[in-house]
Amino acid sequence: MTGTTVTDRPEGPATGRFAPSPTGTLHLGSLATATASFLDARLHGGRWLLRMEDLDRAREVPGAAAGILGDLERLGFWWDGPVVYQSQRHDLYQQAVAALEARGLAYPCSCTRRDLGATDDLGGYPGTCRAGTRRSGPTAMRFRADLSPLGPFVDRLQGPVEVDPSALGDPVIRRRDGLYAYQLAVVVDDAAQGVTDVMRGADLLPSSYWQRSLQRALGLPEPRYAHLPLVCEPGGAKLSKSARALARQDGSPSEQIWRVLSLLRQAPPPELARAPLAELWDWAIGHWRLGALRTVASLPAD
Ligand code: GLU
Repeated sequence: MTGTTVTDRPEGPATGRFAPSPTGTLHLGSLATATASFLDARLHGGRWLLRMEDLDRAREVPGAAAGILGDLERLGFWWDGPVVYQSQRHDLYQQAVAALEARGLAYPCSCTRRDLGATDDLGGYPGTCRAGTRRSGPTAMRFRADLSPLGPFVDRLQGPVEVDPSALGDPVIRRRDGLYAYQLAVVVDDAAQGVTDVMRGADLLPSSYWQRSLQRALGLPEPRYAHLPLVCEPGGAKLSKSARALARQDGSPSEQIWRVLSLLRQAPPPELARAPLAELWDWAIGHWRLGALRTVASLPAD
């Protein structure tokens, strides 16, 4: 493997995962991600894990986690081991924050949203509190992301990825309200669960820089990444609310999975849309080709 060519995973068992946030129903974009990561892991007899990213209880929709699991079961997915809930793993995240702090790689930050203007999580924190907080009161914790320069990053689908770390700034790893941030939790959990292959939507590609930096800082192995083209409207616009509300779409489970396989450019034989679900999944696992998505910019839904 070189730093500049797009490489596929060598053959051998992988551990993939699907990590939904329970903020609504399983929509078409997440179903496509679940399907692709499931097939990619199962192709070589690997494991596929489910993790509920339910750290932010305020954004959680009651019943959404159970609804997502119910939909996955109804659609014939199966996963290895019990579902992991991030809300039950605070101790692990605290240990990681403490380890970073002990090595001078994390610092308290008193900046409020108002201090930072319009910048959001990916907006490039200017490093204001690196030299010390500016006021007393509750603080967030940030990770010094640029202290260990990272080598080139080759995504299995997107190819070589160039990131300007200064444009991203230092991410929050624990919020002012005490909640552990996604960037930290995802890194801790992927390592703790032995995940070798992360597959998710291309909207999360910029986060990979922070996650790889955190892995380096915490001495954790780096998984392979594949960022999938995003599902969009037929005309290319962002997927609308109605199209996103996939879960109760028309058709049998086989028809629904058949449509997702078509969306993922797997070209399932037409007759399999009416086959028993297990037969369709057998075909899909045996014929999975990640490469079919390699030059694809987005995935227009029907
Ligand atoms: N929980 C995230 C989401 O639902 C996915 C995180 C990941 O796959 O790394 O968008």
